[in-house]
Amino acid sequence: MNEKNDAYWKQELTDEEYNVLRNKGTERAFAGKFNAFKEEGVFHCAGCKSPLFDSKTKYDSGSGWPSFYDVTSSDKVKIIRDKSHGMIRDEVVCAKCGGHLGHVFEDGPNPTGKRYCINSVSLGFEKKSTDS
Ligand code: FE
Repeated sequence: MNEKNDAYWKQELTDEEYNVLRNKGTERAFAGKFNAFKEEGVFHCAGCKSPLFDSKTKYDSGSGWPSFYDVTSSDKVKIIRDKSHGMIRDEVVCAKCGGHLGHVFEDGPNPTGKRYCINSVSLGFEKKSTDS
């Protein structure tokens, strides 16, 4: 993992991004810029630009956060058991920079059955023409 220090992130990120990516905060439901976003392209880590989710795997989970049923490639994220807030959840972290992205649940649609519930603030977007 390419760990940068706290001073780097404080300078590099907005306050909102810092709160979510580095302090594991959560944006308000239905408030994030990518919740109802439907363009085609790739969502990357807002911290380090690593490509994380393809719009083809984005779906409306009704949760109020951008939801995906898969990652671009399993080595792009790390899953960490999270016992905070009186719950047992699986935290999703960017494998490259360690930024907090959201959580993954087992109630997603086919073909994976996964629901990657991700903060908009943790993501950036790049439009691309899909060729398949
Ligand atoms: Fe990252």
